Amino acid sequence: MANEVLNVVLSEAERHAARKVESVSLRVGVLRAIEPEHLSFLFSHLAHGTLADGATLDIREEPVRVECAACGVSEARSMPWECPRCRGSSITTRGGDSLDIISLEIDV
Ligand SMILES: [Zn+2]
Repeated sequence: MANEVLNVVLSEAERHAARKVESVSLRVGVLRAIEPEHLSFLFSHLAHGTLADGATLDIREEPVRVECAACGVSEARSMPWECPRCRGSSITTRGGDSLDIISLEIDV
């Protein structure tokens, strides 16, 4: 996971001829069950000696979007089997599984 993120960050950084990566903003879906501190720790460990050495990770959690036929849209922190608000069973869910780099701050 952290490796996957680092690889994308490094290839982006190289594409922009960066000398150093300052910070990375990430969107991580709650369904991926990632502890932000754990991911930050692994990332900085793996980034040691690369362009991303010392870069900070800004991790934003993406909830699951729940669309309920009865009460509208709400959010959940895990995959729901019923509407978290009205307990209705007529729901569709979307998102919550992202792993996207939103932005990258680099030094060129
Ligand atoms: Zn509902």
